[in-house]
Amino acid sequence: MKNMKAAVFSYPPHVEVVDVPDPSPERGEVVIQVEATALCGTDLRITRRGHGTIAEGEKRVLGHEVVGRVAALGEGVEGFSEGEAVAIAPNFGCGKCLYCIQGNTHHCPETKAMGITYDGGFARFMRVPERAVRQGNIFPLWDGAEYTALSFVEAFACVVHGFLPLQVKTEDRVLIYGAGPIGMMFAELAQLRGAREVWVADLSRDRLETASSRGAGIIPVKETPVNEVISGADVVVVAAPAPRAQQEALEIASVYGRVNFFGGLPPQVKEVPLHSNVIHYKELMVTGTTKSNNYHFRLALDFLRHGQIDLSYLASHVLPLEKIEEGLALMESQKSLKVVLKPNTD
Ligand SMILES: [Zn+2]
Ligand SMILES: [Zn+2]
Repeated sequence: MKNMKAAVFSYPPHVEVVDVPDPSPERGEVVIQVEATALCGTDLRITRRGHGTIAEGEKRVLGHEVVGRVAALGEGVEGFSEGEAVAIAPNFGCGKCLYCIQGNTHHCPETKAMGITYDGGFARFMRVPERAVRQGNIFPLWDGAEYTALSFVEAFACVVHGFLPLQVKTEDRVLIYGAGPIGMMFAELAQLRGAREVWVADLSRDRLETASSRGAGIIPVKETPVNEVISGADVVVVAAPAPRAQQEALEIASVYGRVNFFGGLPPQVKEVPLHSNVIHYKELMVTGTTKSNNYHFRLALDFLRHGQIDLSYLASHVLPLEKIEEGLALMESQKSLKVVLKPNTD
C-alpha cells in the first residue's frame, strides 16, 4: 500500500495536509483519481466550527465537489473503465426509505455524503462507497470536459434544485440577493429561462462588477436600497446569509411572487421576524431548498454538457492541495468566487 497526500480535518477544527494510505477499492467500490475539487461554504464552516456528523477524535478528508478519473474498480463493478472522466454526486441514502424511493436521498434519515460523513476529494484519490456506486452517484463526463469548471457542478446542482420550484417565466423580474457563486448561478439560470429582468444585489463592488459583465442588473446595497431600484419582483432568491435580506425579500416580492431562502443563516441567528400577513395578502410562495439529489445533479451536468450555461468564469483561484488553507482564507475574505484545488498537480 502506498501513501498519498490528503487534507485531513480534525478537532479542534482545522485542516492539515498529511500522508495517508492510498485507498484501494473493496468489493463494489470505485476509486477516483481526483482532478479537481472545489471548495464550498460548507467546507469553510466545517474547518472553522466543526460538524455535527464528525465526532471529536475523528478525522475526515473533506471535499464534496469532485471530478476526476476512474483509477480502480472493485470486484463486481461494471459499466466504468479505468481512466474514464467522471463527476461525483456526494449525497446518497439507505435506498429503501420513502425519501430515497422518491430520489430525495439528501433527506434520508441515514443520508451520507462523501466529503462530510465519508472521506472526500481533498486528496489525490477518493473512494466511492459501494452504495453510492449502486445509486448512480458516478456520472460519466464527455470528451473535452474541463475539470476546473465541472468541479462546481455539485454547487450548481443545489442551485438547480432551488430554481425549479420558482417557475421562472419570460415575463418575470428576478431579484437575487448575493453575487457570490451561488447567486451568479441563479442569475445564469434566470437568464437562460429568458426572464425579462435579472437583478443581483450585493455589498461587494467586485462581485457586482462580475454580475454586470454577465448581463445582470446590479444593486450596490450599501449605497442604494433595493426598493429604490426595483419595486415588485416576481421571483426573489436570498443567496446570502443575511436575515435582513430574508425580511426584505417578502416586502419586495410582487403579488404571486415566489421566494427562495437558499442560504442558511449563521447559528447565532435564532429567529427572523417575518411579516406573515405579507405572505397571506400577496399570496406568496416562500420556499427553502437545501443540498441536491442525483436528479438535480444530472440536470446541472446536462446544462453544462450542452453548453447552455458557462460557469468557467466563476473559477477565480486554482490551487494545489497544499494551499488549502490559503483557499479557505480567500473564501473567508470574500476575495474569491470559486476556489478549486487540484490535488494531483503540485
Ligand atoms: Zn457544497
Ligand atoms: Zn433512505
